[in-house]
Amino acid sequence: MGWKTLDNVTPDGRRTLVRVDFNVPIENGEITDETRIQAALPTINSLIEAGCPITLCSHLGRPGGEPDPELSLKPVAAHLANLVDAEVTMAPDCVGDDVTQMRAELGPGEILLLENTRFHAGEEDNDADFAEQLAGDAELYVDDAFGSMHRAHASTVGVTEYIDECVAGLLVGEELENLEKVRDASRDGFIVILGGAKAEDKIEAIRDLLPRVEKLLIGGAMAWAFFKVLGRNVGESLCMPDSVKAAECILEDLDDDQRERLVLPSDVQMKQVKPDTGETRFADADGIEDGWDALDIGLQTQEDYGRTIREHAKVVFWNGPMGYFEEPPFNEGTLAVAQALSETEAFTVVGGGDSAAAITQMDLEDRMSHVSTGGGASLEFVQGRELPGVEALDRV
Ligand code: ADP
Ligand code: MG
Repeated sequence: MGWKTLDNVTPDGRRTLVRVDFNVPIENGEITDETRIQAALPTINSLIEAGCPITLCSHLGRPGGEPDPELSLKPVAAHLANLVDAEVTMAPDCVGDDVTQMRAELGPGEILLLENTRFHAGEEDNDADFAEQLAGDAELYVDDAFGSMHRAHASTVGVTEYIDECVAGLLVGEELENLEKVRDASRDGFIVILGGAKAEDKIEAIRDLLPRVEKLLIGGAMAWAFFKVLGRNVGESLCMPDSVKAAECILEDLDDDQRERLVLPSDVQMKQVKPDTGETRFADADGIEDGWDALDIGLQTQEDYGRTIREHAKVVFWNGPMGYFEEPPFNEGTLAVAQALSETEAFTVVGGGDSAAAITQMDLEDRMSHVSTGGGASLEFVQGRELPGVEALDRV
């Protein structure tokens, strides 16, 4: 794989800074989904066993460079204390004299959780002074927050300038190993499924991936942007001007071969919203009428996408739901794709919070080869981009 991971080094009681992904949903001080905390445990436990004084850092939400009590990591420290066999202390900030003192006093196998790194503008600016303070007295840096590795922030990139040895955590190591197989897949049997709301977010991915895939299946509201460019009525469907512009750029540049590999839905499921009757029905791609909101791919598309996956796939990468899956029956397209993925023998990787949630909801997680913890990061990696946080790690 090329990058050093926690498996390649002997932590041996060294003072360690770990970048974790504790960006978890919190309601009234209670953590409503502990998946990300659980995911960090293998790395944390192995450092406890190695007798390292452990400083953990993470961002939470988007406080915009200023302290925001609503986005404090305090509840996470309390939660973590119940999951590990170690003392867990919450720091009042992520840098500063008090924190330096607390880090210096940490004993072997003890944990200090720093406060939200995004309480300081230096985090997202990747400010050198801030990064040096955050690095503190650490002798070993472990990055286990894959979902943030596509961003060059102080906690993902800056700190590595000031710490001797910088390695991937166990979670990140697993991500890289699986995602490399997708990135390096040969075209024959390489199927990518892209959905979600905003085409402009995924335009570069479509551009980069089209020459390398057998089929690129499009779903989600993103598809309506392409419909609009093709002159079809989209009624009341979610279709932002920026997405349409992005879709237009993509379609303009395609040669015939690529045009054939970019697959759009052939039918939709929609709801009448003007007048707001709430009635739902299916329509062909060119049959969306005024007053109707296309919220999912239709039955024919579900069947076609399913067949493509079952009959052609060797490697599949899926990012983004096929429709407004939060509201049944508009989850049917997303469920159909998840079902097909669970039935193929192909190497299947799912990236992105929403698609991963759909997989978990259906209890199909074990049927996938890998479910990534990073949406944007996994997509960029599969595109063949270098992720700043990955490039900052030591090589073996
Ligand atoms: P991801 O997080 O997987 O990258 P996005 O954030 O781009 O995907 O979009 C996910 C959101 O898009 C979901 O909330 C989903 O309900 C919504 N969505 C997908 N298709 C539609 C649609 N046809 N109409 C309205 N919303 C949609
Ligand atoms: Mg999203």
